[in-house]
Amino acid sequence: MSLRFFNTYSRKIEEFEPRDLVDRAITMYTCGPTVYSRAHIGNFRAYIFEDLLQRHLELRGYKVHRVMNITDVEDKTIRGAREAKLPLTKFTEQFKKAFFQDAETLRIKSANEFPAATEQRYIDRMIDMIGELTARGLAYQADDKSVYFRINKFPNYGKLAHFDLTQLQSTGRVKHDEYDKEHIGDFALWKAWDDEDGDVKWDSPWGAGRPGWHIECSAMSTALLGDQIDIHCGGVDNIFPHHEAEIAQSEGVTGKKFVRYWLHCAHLLVDGQKMAKSLGNFYTVPDVIAKDYTGRELRYALLRVHYRVPLNFTWKGMQEARESLDRIDEWLARLREIAKVGNVQRSTPNAQPSIRPDFETALDDDLNISAALGFLFESIRETNRAMDENMLDTASAKAWLDWWQRINTVLDLEPETDTVVPQAVTQLAEEREKARREKNWKLSDELRDRISAIGWEVRDTKDGQKLTPRGGFYPQNLR
Ligand code: AMP
Ligand code: ZN
Repeated sequence: MSLRFFNTYSRKIEEFEPRDLVDRAITMYTCGPTVYSRAHIGNFRAYIFEDLLQRHLELRGYKVHRVMNITDVEDKTIRGAREAKLPLTKFTEQFKKAFFQDAETLRIKSANEFPAATEQRYIDRMIDMIGELTARGLAYQADDKSVYFRINKFPNYGKLAHFDLTQLQSTGRVKHDEYDKEHIGDFALWKAWDDEDGDVKWDSPWGAGRPGWHIECSAMSTALLGDQIDIHCGGVDNIFPHHEAEIAQSEGVTGKKFVRYWLHCAHLLVDGQKMAKSLGNFYTVPDVIAKDYTGRELRYALLRVHYRVPLNFTWKGMQEARESLDRIDEWLARLREIAKVGNVQRSTPNAQPSIRPDFETALDDDLNISAALGFLFESIRETNRAMDENMLDTASAKAWLDWWQRINTVLDLEPETDTVVPQAVTQLAEEREKARREKNWKLSDELRDRISAIGWEVRDTKDGQKLTPRGGFYPQNLR
């Protein structure tokens, strides 16, 4: 059975055909966090959808090479650093770290690469691309010294967002002294330096300045994945202008179709409104953990609704996630018991509930996770009934557990196992507890860092310190 995805570009469900049919290698680019504050769980809904997509492709035998960028220079990061009176890199570093920690808490599989926009090799590439666009008449430097993309020269502009350019044109030109651009929709590729930018600047053929947000993703994606990418994802708010601009810039330089499949996830809402930093209606991962929920429970709550359907975040939803996971845990425990000790074998083979391919075929159908989970819970009901009646035999229990192991490579919802905490970690944690009692916060933070350096995380809960091992997914230096 082939995979089908809703492609934002065509607004149609399309059969998935990657470029490389022989090796089944797929390139995937996912717009990552803008590190000016801690990402909220709305952002993580987008990352969890991308995680589900990657894991399902892998289950279906594709080799996914995934890049997730870090936007560490744009208006908000510069403003934030200025307000915090910190150098830009120092300011953004804390949020990069927080992002990797939260992603790990939510069991999001690491991308293969996490390029950051401020790395010199990507800045160089951005400058090269802007130079190329200027040479082709697709970009120009305006009176304000910034360089803009000339959208009128790119006939496909608006195709992704299904956006009618003439409407924008009909508003006419804004008074010249208020506006340096030729067209109201022209977007900045290079922003000329001004006082507000402080020491955030790079040299370029157009003078000192910094890149626009859109060109960052065009440069990093093509640098790492080549001119053409199989899948590009983000939240729906990325469609316009960000992804529209990425297409214009990348295709303007390479002359090739930039992306085969554009997938966008609907928003996480709070009281019917988009969860957003600007609206102040957001929760972070630590906010949810502080209410005594686990990363696994939050993962489930964000995962369980189809990615193109808006999802309303509620505490009741978190409670339901907990109950659903309890059912899975109980079911697994029963199956393991039967697999280990056996069962009264009164059953005939056709009395056993059958394992059907429905979970995977539901995901083939544009990642229909609600249908896939529906099938999982139907299977749980049927097997539980068989176990109640003592009708499930050992072989069957083992087969169900094998099936669970397979689908869990996509879900990643096994309960945390109790791990033995090494003596060295316990000792540091005890010293930290003492430091905290004595309100020696500096020492307490140092001890947290030492615990972290040996691979453990300490969290303060109302029941005291909790120690958890860190997974091996994320870059050591950024955790
Ligand atoms: P940002 O850090 O603002 O660049 O956003 C990072 C990712 O989160 C992008 O893919 C956004 O489209 C996505 N995003 C932002 N807010 C939400 C939300 N409320 N629900 C789902 N995705 C979101
Ligand atoms: Zn992007």
